[in-house]
Amino acid sequence: MSRRPIIAGNWKMHKTITEAVDFARNLKPALAGMGDGVEVVICPAFTALAGVAEVLKDTGIAVGAQDVYWEESGAFTGEVSPGMLKDAGCRYVIAGHSERRQLFGETDEMTSEKFHHCVKCGLLPVLCVGETDIERNSGMAEAVIKRQIEAVFGTLELYRADRLIIIAYEPVWAIGTGKNATSSDAQKACASIREEIERTTDTRTAKEALVLYGGSVKSTNAKDYLSQSDIDGLLVGGASLDPEEFLSIIREAAKLIG
Ligand code: PEP
Repeated sequence: MSRRPIIAGNWKMHKTITEAVDFARNLKPALAGMGDGVEVVICPAFTALAGVAEVLKDTGIAVGAQDVYWEESGAFTGEVSPGMLKDAGCRYVIAGHSERRQLFGETDEMTSEKFHHCVKCGLLPVLCVGETDIERNSGMAEAVIKRQIEAVFGTLELYRADRLIIIAYEPVWAIGTGKNATSSDAQKACASIREEIERTTDTRTAKEALVLYGGSVKSTNAKDYLSQSDIDGLLVGGASLDPEEFLSIIREAAKLIG
């Protein structure tokens, strides 16, 4: 970890507005003495975004959405646009989470649309990539990740400009299962993601890109991942719902940067 680390909590479909706002209120003083070395992001459900952002405004803690649609407005019942997310106080958006891909049929092309529209709108998309168990066991992990990255960055006028790329390596078999990747396997995958970023963009962009690991991260294994040279942070699901666990993970990141 040599760049400013991101610790992002994906709350998935959990917490009412009151629960989410209370969590944010408690996080504020707990992080107050920790300096701004770690970029902390929380990603509540859509309903809680504005309330949480209001509590966290003027703190260094950022808010992200878990999904987005790629049009700005129109007859798209049930969808939420990048502009609406900005209006609600979001800085980040998760794009292409494996649960979106697997449960809701989101394709690489749809993920790419989401990613590009977030960038256009000034939001920071966090692109999730990662292989399933079957893909891993059949030796296809690297090819799958390459395809997922190529789909987003292959067409990439936008990235010739100064853009921060954030990719989360989230092996699908490790999400919510307690079967986390070893830190050395995660390091290898994140290093090859960085190489792929370099191939599709340029050396400087790849060097500055933030590559996160996600998949059954807990306070007890966070340090192992964060100590790897190509892992710049963590995308945390289940463990981010528990304030003490989430704080301990953030503390591990803060300790490593001194
Ligand atoms: C996630 O939802 O992105 C995730 C990594 O979940 P968990 O930490 O629960 O495996």
